[in-house]
Amino acid sequence: MDQSFVVRAQRLRRLPPYLFKAIDEKKAAVKARGVDIIDLGVGDPDLPTPPHILEAMKKALDDPSNHRYPSYSGMLEFREAVAQWYHERFGVSVAPEREVISLIGSKEGIAHFPLALVDTGDRVLVPSPAYPVYHIATLFAGGESYVMPLEERRGFLPDLDSIPEEVAVSSKVMFINYPNNPTSAVASREFFERVVEFAMRYKIVVCHDAAYTELAFDGYRPLSFLQVDGAKEVGVEFHSLSKTYNMTGWRIGFAVGNPDAISALGDIKSNIDSGVFQAVQWAAIEALRGDQGCVEEMIRVYQERRDLMVQGLREAGFEVTPPKATFYLWVKVPEGYTSAGMTEHLLEKAGVVVTPGNGFGEPGEGFFRIALTQDKARLEEAVNRMKQVVL
Ligand SMILES: *Cc1c(COP(=O)(O)O)cnc(C)c1O
Repeated sequence: MDQSFVVRAQRLRRLPPYLFKAIDEKKAAVKARGVDIIDLGVGDPDLPTPPHILEAMKKALDDPSNHRYPSYSGMLEFREAVAQWYHERFGVSVAPEREVISLIGSKEGIAHFPLALVDTGDRVLVPSPAYPVYHIATLFAGGESYVMPLEERRGFLPDLDSIPEEVAVSSKVMFINYPNNPTSAVASREFFERVVEFAMRYKIVVCHDAAYTELAFDGYRPLSFLQVDGAKEVGVEFHSLSKTYNMTGWRIGFAVGNPDAISALGDIKSNIDSGVFQAVQWAAIEALRGDQGCVEEMIRVYQERRDLMVQGLREAGFEVTPPKATFYLWVKVPEGYTSAGMTEHLLEKAGVVVTPGNGFGEPGEGFFRIALTQDKARLEEAVNRMKQVVL
């Protein structure tokens, strides 16, 4: 047979290439030459989950009532802990029974969200550069992404006024994400207010990915989208415990906000998954309710890394703005290089892996992303090698 028996569905054939695939291949080739590679590519925290959270999981493991199917939308205790945390952190009240849902990591919820609201041919407003899931989830739901470019001159906020009227009226969902991955930009209250106004005018459901609200520096406290008047009428916010408590492997997050949108997402999920292992939910409850000193400590560690890298990169001749939040640096590619060219240059000459900005979407061209997810010594080594590389 000249054709494989297994023919992939169109939705898979329409997938853009996996962001890290090309980098992984080049990395493997350089590694095979015996180079000690420093990977600043993937944003996966290197720090362990705090011990009190591990203890809560261990205790929950021994209780057989946790071994059974969990509730689809999350244990009430978990949703109450979320509501309490939300109120303490943002001063926003959400009803645990109707306005909170557990997720198997926020990626899972974000990926399923368009299935709940988007019909074939519906438009979805998607930022670019961005976390790839917004566009791909739209594709999987049969929707069409309309790209909102994030440009430096606008502080990496989308220009809502430039969205054509006919696009706005045919859009069902808008994705936004602040503090932002990959640009590390933050949003002002005014921006969120404009989003609410726009969403109300065109009946668009806003999906705010808030994975990095807790990871902010110099005392800065990012806003929740739901802190803006009217936001709960138009949107939902996705949160993750992954970055805040170094729990990427545990797979737990939550969505809060508009009860109809939460219920629609719940109806998709209850037909696909069966909720989050209760022992993991107990660990998450401990994370949200327990001492938040571990979050302060995490911020201190990343802030130190940020300062070290920003200074080193500048000495190496790179242009970079110190981020107010997230563990990413969004670095300008020097004149004469493309994002891909610079990435390859740094890998070949310095053994340092970074992510090319255009990998997050064409408007990311001209930048590369550094993840501060290695310890100080490795970061110092990386930046010292980068200084040796001729630009
Ligand atoms: C890490 C990340 C997520 C996913 O987090 P999980 O809860 O681990 O699924 C979502 N959005 C952005 C922008 C991220 O960087």
